[in-house]
Amino acid sequence: MKISFDFDNTLEKPEIQKIAKGFIEKGHEVWITSSRKIIGDQTRVIHKDIFDVAIRLGIGSNIQLTNYQDKFNYLSGFDIHLDDDKEQIDLINASNQKCIALHFESAKNIKKLI
Ligand SMILES: [Mg+2]
Repeated sequence: MKISFDFDNTLEKPEIQKIAKGFIEKGHEVWITSSRKIIGDQTRVIHKDIFDVAIRLGIGSNIQLTNYQDKFNYLSGFDIHLDDDKEQIDLINASNQKCIALHFESAKNIKKLI
C-alpha cells in the first residue's frame, strides 16, 4: 500500500513514527505530505525536522510539500493519508480518488489490518 502521513502534529509524534516504521518494515511505501512552504534551496534547511525524520525512518526522499495548497491534489495513487486536520481529511475524502484520509489516531488500527 502507498501510505502518506502529515508531519506537523502527526508524524512528528514518536508513537506515530513507530507505526510508520512498522509500515515500511512490512513493505508498504510511506510518504510525508506536508502543507509547509517550499523555500527554494533552503527547503531542506528550514524543514530539517521533516527531512531528519524521513531519513531516520527510511522514508528517504518520499516527501511532498504542498506550499499551503490543499493536500488532495497530491494524493492521487495513494491508498491512505493520515492527518490531524479535519478540513484536509474531509477534502481528501470528498475528492474523487481512491485515497482514504483518516485522523492519525486511526493509525494503530490500520496497522493491525494491513
Ligand atoms: Mg498537521
